[in-house]
Amino acid sequence: MIRFENINKIYDKTQHLALSDITLEIAHGDFVFVVGKSGAGKSTLIKMILKELDPTEGKIYIENRDITRLKKRHIPMYRRQLGVVFQDYRLLSDKTVYENVAYAMEIVENKTKDIQEKVPEVLQLVGLGHRMRYYPDQLSGGEQQRVSIARAIVNDPKIIICDEPTGNLDPRTSLGIMKLLHSINGRGTTIIMATHDRDIVDMMQARVITLHGGRVVSDKKGGYDNED
Ligand code: ADP
Ligand code: ADP
Repeated sequence: MIRFENINKIYDKTQHLALSDITLEIAHGDFVFVVGKSGAGKSTLIKMILKELDPTEGKIYIENRDITRLKKRHIPMYRRQLGVVFQDYRLLSDKTVYENVAYAMEIVENKTKDIQEKVPEVLQLVGLGHRMRYYPDQLSGGEQQRVSIARAIVNDPKIIICDEPTGNLDPRTSLGIMKLLHSINGRGTTIIMATHDRDIVDMMQARVITLHGGRVVSDKKGGYDNED
């Protein structure tokens, strides 16, 4: 469902080769970690799936469609099939938990009735049914990340992209977030997660794509690649 074909990315300003000859495939329902040191190219790779960046060379197919050729006006529609979770949660501080999740449904023009039904359901699923009327700053970091996961899944995306989702959380809270992502993956959603968190990668025993200097140096199921 996701296929990178001979992707190169050179940043114009610095002429830095951030990704070099990346070819890889991610199937429906996969759970994939993208690991590697700072500067290895993880964010660049993720930004290409989100179509925030285009490769300098190569093609990226999502569901058999080459998104490098996607017209600008079709990008918002394309992004609807993706859910995104960031390290810093990116919640709207002047909206409640309920409103933060509802907003994601409003901007894609769902009916009020559907929103009123779906938002409590998704908040229950992430374990925050009792926090709907709270504001983000009244929640712990782990709870805020759960809100952001609820927001990411509320429109039933096929793919969820997580960029260091546990980067600001303690190990115990991180474990809870990983259990939640694992259960979402169990419902058939493809999850791609960039992370530095060796313990989590070792624990999950999922597919691990290791980048080093913009190249894939390892791609296998198991733990964190000790070469890196
Ligand atoms: P990671 O997410 O693994 O830390 P990045 O994808 O952010 O790595 O960066 C890969 C390489 O590309 C790094 O060497 C970084 O300095 C460079 N890079 C990232 N963003 C830019 C940019 N906007 N302009 C120039 N170089 C960049
Ligand atoms: P942590 O245990 O991660 O440090 P906190 O101590 O910030 O988390 O919060 C513990 C619980 O108290 C959380 O469930 C949060 O929702 C609730 N809470 C925190 N601050 C407030 C507040 N200002 N008003 C209401 N509830 C709050």
